[in-house]
Amino acid sequence: MNCDVLVIGSGHNGLALAAYCARLGLDVTVVEAAPKVGGLLSTEEVTLPGFRHNLHAVTLGSYAPFYRDFDLRPFGVRYVRPPVEYVMLLPDRHLTLRCGDPAANYRAIAAFSRRDADTIADLHRRFHTTWLREYYAPPLPAGQRGQGLPPAEQREFDRLCALPFRTAVDEMFESEEVRLLFCLKAMELTGDTGIGARAATGEYPATGDFLFRLAFDEEYHIVIGGTNELAQGIARLLAHLGAKVLTGTPVERIVVASGRATGVRLANGETVEARAVVSAANFANTMLDLVGAEHDFQRAIELNPDLVDAYLVRGLASLAYSRALKTKKADWPANCSKSCMWHIWRNLDEPIRRDRV
Ligand SMILES: Cc1cc2nc3c(=O)[nH]c(=O)nc-3n(C[C@H](O)[C@H](O)[C@H](O)COP(=O)(O)OP(=O)(O)OC[C@H]3O[C@@H](n4cnc5c(N)ncnc54)[C@H](O)[C@@H]3O)c2cc1C
Repeated sequence: MNCDVLVIGSGHNGLALAAYCARLGLDVTVVEAAPKVGGLLSTEEVTLPGFRHNLHAVTLGSYAPFYRDFDLRPFGVRYVRPPVEYVMLLPDRHLTLRCGDPAANYRAIAAFSRRDADTIADLHRRFHTTWLREYYAPPLPAGQRGQGLPPAEQREFDRLCALPFRTAVDEMFESEEVRLLFCLKAMELTGDTGIGARAATGEYPATGDFLFRLAFDEEYHIVIGGTNELAQGIARLLAHLGAKVLTGTPVERIVVASGRATGVRLANGETVEARAVVSAANFANTMLDLVGAEHDFQRAIELNPDLVDAYLVRGLASLAYSRALKTKKADWPANCSKSCMWHIWRNLDEPIRRDRV
């Protein structure tokens, strides 16, 4: 079998990449080890029959260009926008952010600090367009962020993007609660439970660039039927575009000749030649298991152990509890049950301390 582009893995990113390539008219094949598509877009009946649970990804952010470039509704994907995006429960009050309602979110933040609410509005006005354009483009080196802004604004945007996350939070916001809001969101969205980089250094694994993403009201959607329906919908789009998706087909090895990937060997012994091989399996597995340490990628991982660490942390995030947790009754604001995310930490040090335990 031959193709132009062979994609290893039918998770969200493998499927999205395959769609872009297929739309260009390339002959695309996606090979997936698991019996069905989706990877971490995984929805299963793990409790009672008929109750489907998202085991990993739940929410879908509106900023990703893929959803502007491809309309998945004709392929059976239906979304619902939860009215409440986020709730932070504090001992005596709570902070609620609503989906796609900047005026309500301004008021929610202003209840803690009007200055912080004004700061977000000001950053949005000055930098939102530039930030969004650069966030989903190949990364620019420090010193070159903020292309197209007036020179003084460009320097300021570039400086803020490069700040360590916590430094940026502390510089931009005065309220402890607002700073906590962004630190908790960073933990949630980077998948860092505190066992990785942050536990070692006390630092959050992101920069001011990521803080912009958290501050600039992204609208969240939930896929009706579970996030695996999203994967099924993209797979139907791929079939429509003429791409092949082979499930239950593990890749055993990426074939490398003269330092270049030329195809893959499947576990069933078959070889597929391709002009380009793209691995959407995780980095460590790709380099160590599929390419092989003899190609000297071992050294690349040794030089950057965080790459491996990041995946270990993600794996841990999906641990399940084997017995019921001891719980306390809390006063639960009426609209909280409709939220995509909740946080209950009370101050900026607590997440780090608790995760270390
Ligand atoms: C607990 C948790 C919650 C999350 N929540 C959200 C959320 O709410 N919103 C959000 O946007 N993101 C969320 N994420 C992140 C999001 O799920 C992932 O970033 C995204 O799904 C990753 O997609 P991917 O295609 O890169 O990788 P994966 O989904 O991991 O796909 C990789 C695929 O490669 C396949 N594969 C691996 N090795 C081989 C091989 N040798 N041969 C063939 N196939 C192979 C695997 O079977 C898998 O299907 C969450 C992640 C976790 C862990």
